[in-house]
Amino acid sequence: MNAEIIAVGSELLLGQIADTNGQYLSTELAGIGINVYRHTVVGDNEERLLEALKEASERADTIIVSGGLGPTEDDLTKETLARFTGKQLFYHEASLKKVEDYFAKKGSPMPQNNKKQALYTESSDVFYNRAGFACGIGLEHEDTLFLLLPGPPRELKHMFENDVKPYLLNRLDENALVLSRVLRFFGIGESRLEEQLIDLIQHQTNPTIAPLASDGEVTVRLTAKAAGRAEAEKMLDTVEAQIQNKVGKYLYGKEKETLPSQVVRMFTDNGLTIAAAESITGGWFSKALVDIPGASGILEGAVTVYTEQAKTKVLGVDADVIAHHGAVSSECAEQMAEKVRRMYGSRIGISFTGTAGPGSIEGKEPGTVWIGVADSRQVTSHLLNLTGSREHIRRLAVYYGCWFLLHR
Ligand code: ATP
Ligand code: MG
Repeated sequence: MNAEIIAVGSELLLGQIADTNGQYLSTELAGIGINVYRHTVVGDNEERLLEALKEASERADTIIVSGGLGPTEDDLTKETLARFTGKQLFYHEASLKKVEDYFAKKGSPMPQNNKKQALYTESSDVFYNRAGFACGIGLEHEDTLFLLLPGPPRELKHMFENDVKPYLLNRLDENALVLSRVLRFFGIGESRLEEQLIDLIQHQTNPTIAPLASDGEVTVRLTAKAAGRAEAEKMLDTVEAQIQNKVGKYLYGKEKETLPSQVVRMFTDNGLTIAAAESITGGWFSKALVDIPGASGILEGAVTVYTEQAKTKVLGVDADVIAHHGAVSSECAEQMAEKVRRMYGSRIGISFTGTAGPGSIEGKEPGTVWIGVADSRQVTSHLLNLTGSREHIRRLAVYYGCWFLLHR
């Protein structure tokens, strides 16, 4: 199956928003073995969309269109597909009812335009929108499959994950089932990881093994082709075990797991709680945890203590310790971790202090970071010498903090 993606929306052409739907869809399609050959962006213009549909259908057998399913005048994707294929448009009952019920509940009359959201083309499959109003469409026309999905990313993802992906998997030839698995590593660079796996990578064609570095972590995508799902899973399990053997100590998760999500899970499973004292990370660590559902069960609280005065006044770090060793020191990091742990009564305390650059602090090079970890028995600290931009150093500090918590 070869696919093309068409993103519709003048705001994309104007640069007001980036085409994250295209990025998401490409990633997902690659994950199920569908090749994406082209991305096209067109404005809210019927003639140019018509042209884009025509050109894409001459090349691809699957065309995914995002956006323009809404109620306003400039939303005309369904109308254009109907014109292109010569199909009639009908109202999908459940979708129409959802819009009508919404306005009835609000107690305001429904603008006629809102009915547009419930349109579908004759002889198409309809994807009911659980996250919004406009239904999606799957229409096969002259050997091309057209999939129309709503523009708002939340709605598009919801519909793709729950309806469109299974729909596509059903259509894929069972004899050529393609399955991917992503393994996530931290604390090892891409080239070192590749070096460790080079034998596997070079001698392995099915599943394939593809490392990729991004934002301080390295992922490895395994892709297996097999006659069926069970066989593909088994092949992936085998290669995963071989990789585990070589670099297992750097593996922290799979698929969409992140270091913070693993911390939340591990702390939840073990009934642990945490509090954080953040200087260099400025609240990033606690944000990273709060982003994960379930964080309320493990995170007691956090303080951002950026200046020396804040460290002494708010947390009670000894002024003498800072005077003798500096704020970027193991002594300060350990006191911060211990003080914040006591302050919140949590099982674990963690602290981040360092220099994010570009300049040096206390004669310490940018990228010098101390992370303190305290529990009721002991306080330890870890020194990092990081490189990169201010943002990168701070992000890595957060990731390393998670890493040390997972490997306590
Ligand atoms: P609505 O019912 O909200 O009008 P729609 O299906 O008509 O939905 P659009 O009007 O094209 O979709 O886009 C709605 C919003 O979704 C845009 O304002 C934008 O914020 C977001 N959006 C649309 N297309 C994309 C895209 N390709 N990538 C990221 N965001 C997008
Ligand atoms: Mg719209």
